[in-house]
Amino acid sequence: MTINVMTPCCIAGCGPAGALVGYLLARAGVSVVVFEKHGDFLRDFRGDTIHPSTLEILDELGLADRFLGLPHSKVSKLSVRTTTGQKMVLSLERLPTKFRFIAMVPQWDFLEFLTKEAARFSTFRLLRNAEVIGLLEADGVIRGVRYRDNAGEHEIEALLTIGADGRSSVTRQAANLPQVQAAPPMDVFWFRVSRHPGELTEIGLRLGTGLGLVLLDRSDYWQVAYIIPKGAADRIRTQGLDGFRKAIVTVAPELHDRVAEIRDWDQVKLLTVRADRLTRWHRTGYLAIGDAAHAMSPVGGVGINIAIHDAVAAANILWRPLVAGNITRSDLADVQRQREFAVRVIQAFQSAIQSQIIKPMLEGNEPPSLPWVLRATLRVPFLRDLPPRLVAFGIRRPHVQSPSAFVS
Ligand SMILES: Cc1cc2nc3c(=O)[nH]c(=O)nc-3n(C[C@H](O)[C@H](O)[C@H](O)COP(=O)(O)OP(=O)(O)OC[C@H]3O[C@@H](n4cnc5c(N)ncnc54)[C@H](O)[C@@H]3O)c2cc1C
Repeated sequence: MTINVMTPCCIAGCGPAGALVGYLLARAGVSVVVFEKHGDFLRDFRGDTIHPSTLEILDELGLADRFLGLPHSKVSKLSVRTTTGQKMVLSLERLPTKFRFIAMVPQWDFLEFLTKEAARFSTFRLLRNAEVIGLLEADGVIRGVRYRDNAGEHEIEALLTIGADGRSSVTRQAANLPQVQAAPPMDVFWFRVSRHPGELTEIGLRLGTGLGLVLLDRSDYWQVAYIIPKGAADRIRTQGLDGFRKAIVTVAPELHDRVAEIRDWDQVKLLTVRADRLTRWHRTGYLAIGDAAHAMSPVGGVGINIAIHDAVAAANILWRPLVAGNITRSDLADVQRQREFAVRVIQAFQSAIQSQIIKPMLEGNEPPSLPWVLRATLRVPFLRDLPPRLVAFGIRRPHVQSPSAFVS
């Protein structure tokens, strides 16, 4: 059955970018339909880091207190340690914000929270189990989406379609937008082991010979990223779980009493790391944001923050033309203009970390050494807060300018 419905804006994907741009446009009085292919948000090992600038945005919307009422842990320090005893600590504790921490909140809780808040606006509609399978196009203009749900395939016409469907975006592929690919040197295995009460609260990068781990404090467990050379997953699996557990302990000896909790490869999920960027984010009637416009490497854990910034910038620029019912290519180009520089700088920063620290570490037969420039930077009072600022705020962070059409 095909239903043709006209709406000002439809949004493919209800991750951080889609949920927030949906919230903001609906709040400004624009009717939006958000499509989410899954029935819930319960997916393991997605990004769960809510950074200070995202907390500030929630605060501008009057949502921060309620959001921080959800169970979460707070992390104010990001550390890098090598097996040879070198150590670097990035601290968020001196940053000029009332949120001097990263809130670790399961992404499904964050998305449930945002969509529940958005549902207070009569202009917000979320369709779950609704997978966008293509774009409607006529005379070179994108005019909405085709989607599939339990009842079959449908069409919705829209003045604007926002592609927020993540790094495997169907919509950006259908829009045929040009992109550049980066070549991250690594993939990541994710798993969890229990965390003892009183253990250090931090996000820690541990570097050993040929192996790196990232430990994320999740209150009662450690979420662990095991960094492997690109394409090496099958080789490592073939070598067996015993070797895998032993390697973990060489880099994080304190986990020796817990690695036995990893009993099966089913507990270890593979993330194929990808990084790319569209060189044009839009076509008439279509705009890509978040990972759909620029798949982020997991380095620095900044993907959610960047997706949130895209959503705020898009709503700031587009709410007025959408209310007026007349959206132009130049409105859409403005969104890219406002966000592209920030994305390029952050991706360049991630590339530098990958080539200067991660690649040598993965290739090395020698224990890793931290680049002296970075160590020196963190000793100079004026400079030491620059890397934590980049992680906490990104670049050119936007503030909410779209209005609320609803009386609270
Ligand atoms: C394993 C892993 C760990 C990560 N860790 C971190 C971290 O610690 N911190 C951090 O900041 N970032 C992290 N990231 C990156 C971060 O999750 C992303 O950058 C961020 O979620 C991008 O948000 P988004 O809304 O653009 O896309 P996504 O979060 O990918 O959301 C896209 C949404 O669209 C839905 N969707 C996809 N296709 C369709 C379709 N055809 N129709 C309808 N719905 C669709 C998906 O189900 C999903 O809900 C991690 C990523 C991964 C994969």
